Amino acid sequence: MSCAHHLPNHPDRFEVTILESSSSCGGQAFSIPLDETHHGASWLNQGVQGGPHIFRHTFSMFRSQGYDVHPVSLEIYFGKGSHFWTNVFPTMFHEQHEKDIKKFGKVLNIIKWFSALFVFIPIRVLLKMFWFLEEFGDCVIVLSLALFLGAPETGDKCKKKEGALSGNNPEMVMFPNLFDFHETWGKGLMGRGLEMRLNTGVVEVFERGKKGVKVRATWMERFILGSTKWSDDVTVTHWDSNYMEKHYTNHFDEEQVTRAIKTGRDDSARIAQGKEFSPMYYIKPYDQEPDKLEMISIPHPHRSLIDEGS
Ligand SMILES: Cc1cc2nc3c(=O)[nH]c(=O)nc-3n(C[C@H](O)[C@H](O)[C@H](O)COP(=O)(O)OP(=O)(O)OC[C@H]3O[C@@H](n4cnc5c(N)ncnc54)[C@H](O)[C@@H]3O)c2cc1C
Repeated sequence: MSCAHHLPNHPDRFEVTILESSSSCGGQAFSIPLDETHHGASWLNQGVQGGPHIFRHTFSMFRSQGYDVHPVSLEIYFGKGSHFWTNVFPTMFHEQHEKDIKKFGKVLNIIKWFSALFVFIPIRVLLKMFWFLEEFGDCVIVLSLALFLGAPETGDKCKKKEGALSGNNPEMVMFPNLFDFHETWGKGLMGRGLEMRLNTGVVEVFERGKKGVKVRATWMERFILGSTKWSDDVTVTHWDSNYMEKHYTNHFDEEQVTRAIKTGRDDSARIAQGKEFSPMYYIKPYDQEPDKLEMISIPHPHRSLIDEGS
């Protein structure tokens, strides 16, 4: 759509047709409707949620269509029970692994200097090479990597702090209703003379030259798969806060906090902030299979989903 947005600026040179195999524009960036009476919100973005402030072009595109972004301070939740930790305030888990946390900072420097050597070494082997505890690998490194790899725009904004795994809550923005945005944008494009064919998959590009691109498209899917919504296959099993409390430490837990008397570090400001703990990302390994993990993202405009329950 971004290409299609710019090419009609030169109508003498380009004749643009968008072919989209699904029934709406936006691809993975789409929203689903919610029952507002249950959830306190009438929609949520499924999949794509937001990004850092460097996404300026994306924001200006939103604004040009009458939509805006919503700034948030990112709070991330990791682990569960005695393995619980967060980027917001220090927990007992930080205290137990303080040696490994400090050592990890030094190891990162070694890796930086000798990156050509370390690039081929699997992370689990690397952790063994430096004698890290297995629990530290499962509950800290693997979970952090999931955040970096699964949401790099989020993970790389977390800054490490001496003796703490992360000492900041990165500033992020949440996107508006992506379905509405793409609808508005698509209509605007058609108003500029562009043709849009939904439910039309490209099967083959059989000519690409100075005169343009010729493709073979099929409408067959429309007849065979027309009633199936592939990207909207959400199964709702629970929407109550009891469920979240059972599987996550979904609130500030005084008993899990570690203090200066134990760490020698004044984290009082972070602990005070922790009283309003309101995570947006939840990542935890499965107890039985710690090398597998579960990752959830809850955009703040829809926090009512878990705050109020039903
Ligand atoms: C779960 C999840 C969470 C994410 N969260 C974020 C996030 O928070 N922030 C962020 O910045 N990014 C996020 N991303 C990444 C982001 O979704 C993608 O980078 C972005 O949407 C890619 O856009 P695209 O237009 O290149 O491709 P897509 O969104 O994949 O769009 C491709 C389009 O092409 C259509 N198509 C495919 N084949 C054909 C064909 N043969 N003929 C016609 N049409 C075809 C598809 O139907 C689709 O509409 C997330 C991705 C996932 C999966």
